[in-house]
Amino acid sequence: MYTAESISKILKGELLQQTGHPEIEHILLDSRKLLVAETSVFIPLVSERRNAHQYIDELYKKGVSNFIVSEPVSIGLYPKANIIQVKNTLQALHALVAWHRHQFQIPVIGITGSNGKTIVKEWLYQLLEKDYNIVRSPKSYNSQIGVPLSVWQMKAENDLAIFEAGISQPGEMVNLEKVIRPTIGIFTNIGEAHNEGFLNIRQKVNEKLILFMKSDVLIYCKDYLALNECVNNFHNLVGKREIDNDLQLLTWSRKTDADLRVIGVDKNSNHTRIDALYKQEPIFIRIPFVDEGSIENAIHCWALMLYLGKPQQVIQERMDHLGNIAMRLEMKQGINNCSIINDSYNSDLGSLAIALEFLQQQRQHPVRTVILSDILQSGKSEGSLYEEVAGMLEQKGIQKLIGIGKNISREKQSFSKVKASFFANTEEFLQQVNPNEFQNESILVKGARIFQFERIGKLLEQKAHQTILEINLNAIAHNIKAYQALLKPGIKLMAMVKAFSYGSGSFEIASLLQFHGVDYLAVAYADEGVDLRRAGITLPIMVMNPEPTTFEAILQWNLEPELYSMHILDQFEEVVRYANKSNYPVHIKLDTGMHRLGFEQSDLPVLVQRLQHEGLFKVQSIFSHLASSEDPAKDDFTKKQYERFIKMSATLQQQLGYAVIRHIANSAAIHRHPDMQLDMVRLGIGMYGVDSAASFQDKLRNVSTLKTTIAQLKHIPAGDSVGYGGQWTATAPAVTATVRIGYADGYSRKLGNGNGKMLIRNKLAPVVGVVAMDMLMLDVTHIPDAAEGDEVIVFGEALPVQEVADWAGTIPYEILTGISQRVKRVYFQE
Ligand SMILES: *Cc1c(COP(=O)(O)O)cnc(C)c1O
Repeated sequence: MYTAESISKILKGELLQQTGHPEIEHILLDSRKLLVAETSVFIPLVSERRNAHQYIDELYKKGVSNFIVSEPVSIGLYPKANIIQVKNTLQALHALVAWHRHQFQIPVIGITGSNGKTIVKEWLYQLLEKDYNIVRSPKSYNSQIGVPLSVWQMKAENDLAIFEAGISQPGEMVNLEKVIRPTIGIFTNIGEAHNEGFLNIRQKVNEKLILFMKSDVLIYCKDYLALNECVNNFHNLVGKREIDNDLQLLTWSRKTDADLRVIGVDKNSNHTRIDALYKQEPIFIRIPFVDEGSIENAIHCWALMLYLGKPQQVIQERMDHLGNIAMRLEMKQGINNCSIINDSYNSDLGSLAIALEFLQQQRQHPVRTVILSDILQSGKSEGSLYEEVAGMLEQKGIQKLIGIGKNISREKQSFSKVKASFFANTEEFLQQVNPNEFQNESILVKGARIFQFERIGKLLEQKAHQTILEINLNAIAHNIKAYQALLKPGIKLMAMVKAFSYGSGSFEIASLLQFHGVDYLAVAYADEGVDLRRAGITLPIMVMNPEPTTFEAILQWNLEPELYSMHILDQFEEVVRYANKSNYPVHIKLDTGMHRLGFEQSDLPVLVQRLQHEGLFKVQSIFSHLASSEDPAKDDFTKKQYERFIKMSATLQQQLGYAVIRHIANSAAIHRHPDMQLDMVRLGIGMYGVDSAASFQDKLRNVSTLKTTIAQLKHIPAGDSVGYGGQWTATAPAVTATVRIGYADGYSRKLGNGNGKMLIRNKLAPVVGVVAMDMLMLDVTHIPDAAEGDEVIVFGEALPVQEVADWAGTIPYEILTGISQRVKRVYFQE
């Protein structure tokens, strides 16, 4: 049991104030993730951009009473707090959890490598959960922050721990090693990905190997030559330690001699049989997967099971039942205007907390509902376990709970604060439920695998057409951070969510942006803003193209119009006056050379007078738009625009006599013209993963993936033609795939006749003939394993939307915003 006093001793910190001895159970790093105030300690981290000390006040008011700080705080303001002063809060976090780790003498598996860490961890859990009480990293918690939060979960009941570790730059693994201190290591593989931050592969491998400094054994695949070499050097260096426990290497290979020598990999339609020699004995496993990644991951797990001395029969039987890992949380459109977050894979407190947070971000529906199975987590007594769950639901504003399972039903009295109903099992629920009871709700469906909650998901989700646009919410968050990192301190960020957030969604995206602390939103038309307000978005929203017919709605929903001409100003002024408002927030658009919308230099004298007249308006910002910020050839023109803007806005600002936000930079300007960031920037396409200037592209992650499926394969004899108008004729026998996407989905007819290509099984297949309304045909003659039902990537990470735009003779903006609404959007979080 930890208290402020004991933690202070562990950290050799200074206990600035102690007012009580409450037990500390939870570490809180992100104020938005508060779950149980009474038993949490808040550790505010400090980075270049953020200083979490600013949240102490808010958390104290919410009942948090333990703080570890590295900056001066006004103790007088927090009479009931226990406050520990340390030098560096991140180091304190690592030191505290390292101390915690040392209280346990159990085997700890540490996993690192470029790919597969999470799958190997989850598979090991599936393979070993019958034998051990396992604690493991939630999802892919493997960073400087995720690792300590994972290891902090270790409890006396656990007899095996599995943690993953990932790094992005040199110097980080030393910290993670101390926190995890693995006794058993797995190095999954090494790829070219994420080389950023490292000089070369060897430096990256060597850095990662630090995780195994004190391990008893390291499992890895010798077939990665650079990895093998680095491991051998590492082994020579640190393997022979003074103490008698050398680092043992347990190798496997598909090519050469190794402890586990794989001699055969035999794939059939949905299984793979893997044969190997281990200690001269022939052994084999069968796994229900056929892809190379799964085969490699399974062999890592196999080697580990052998190391643990599991009998071959047990290994075989469990490998045969390996299950898919849900790597991400998905949100889909549900029936009766609901949104469904389907997480029917596991149920423990850690993953419940993550899913609840995702649910909490979604404010579009008045009701938040959780359908929850028994929590499969031993250790805590049932009573206190479900009381903690109830506390989490309350903290996250959940109104409705449906509990499914004997244990959760038995503990119903814990859930008196929500509208709750209980069922003994999934079957009973499915028989009794009336789906129309769910109306306009965000619903989290969360259950352990054995509860088969995917059946509930099927009932509540809208049947999606097989052409979908997937939106990676983590990637949007990543891209925002990439641009934020370029902003000088204090500069505000306006996120452009016009045109359905460049085609990616409305409230789903705005909720995320609000969560990530964006300062402003901008939409093109008032009704887009009204939709966001209806969905509970409270950020200020600028409307760039306000039409007189929508002025009433603008006032009613507290939207802020862009005023760009005297005419529009006159009309809006009348409405504001009539509504008896004053100081109404407006934005002034100046024309500095784009010649689209905006006041001109000659308008300024009258404009100033009008803006001050009667005190009807409060100018929130003055802005202009650059015509060619992405184009180096136009940099002189861009500079002229900027200079004009500075002059015009200075005149205005001076006469208005109060501070006004000035902004001119769009995505490309943020990195190409950092001197033009002024008080705020307007981030558009970059947030959606596309850099229109291309020089910043490798810092961005892909956000949208448009995919469809093959409806039918056709064998075309030479001389036959394909599609409307017979515009393509097979010159030799060919195979075509008819796929479920057409111009009605936003796939341009310009992409017909070989201009466009799509990806099937990682190979490009050209469009043959014309694009029809709902379908088109691809030439797949060169992809012999293409099958009906196969996934077809229209664009995504492996086929950038820029490329498709080039083929269609247009820009990514048009492709993204042109995907029609009948294409269902699926949002996911990794
Ligand atoms: C769309 C838009 C932006 C964003 O431009 P990107 O190139 O997508 O970053 C910025 N400002 C205005 C006025 C816009 O209309």
